[in-house]
Amino acid sequence: MDAKQAQKILLDEQKNLTDLRRQSKEARAPVELDQQAVGRLSRVDALQKQNMELATEQRRQQRLHIIDAALKRIDAGDFGFCVICDEAISPQRLAFDPAVACCVTCRN
Ligand SMILES: [Zn+2]
Repeated sequence: MDAKQAQKILLDEQKNLTDLRRQSKEARAPVELDQQAVGRLSRVDALQKQNMELATEQRRQQRLHIIDAALKRIDAGDFGFCVICDEAISPQRLAFDPAVACCVTCRN
């Protein structure tokens, strides 16, 4: 895994997440509470669905922040080095997640 490969993977993931955020925007829209046509049960359903969607959206946002930081490190030529101790991060660890910011030692 070199910086170029990592960049490609991360840009792809970034694009997917951004697309998903756009697609799920409707599901996160505020639920109409005084809508006569929607019964109580389906309203509860809608709220639960919305809550799940919000949690998913939160995870997506966190992941996008991590990807963003990783892409900045790649641009700066720091790819593959731990942000804490500056040692090389193991290739297996980078292969598992190219956005990873620290080595195993600092992670613990
Ligand atoms: Zn480290």
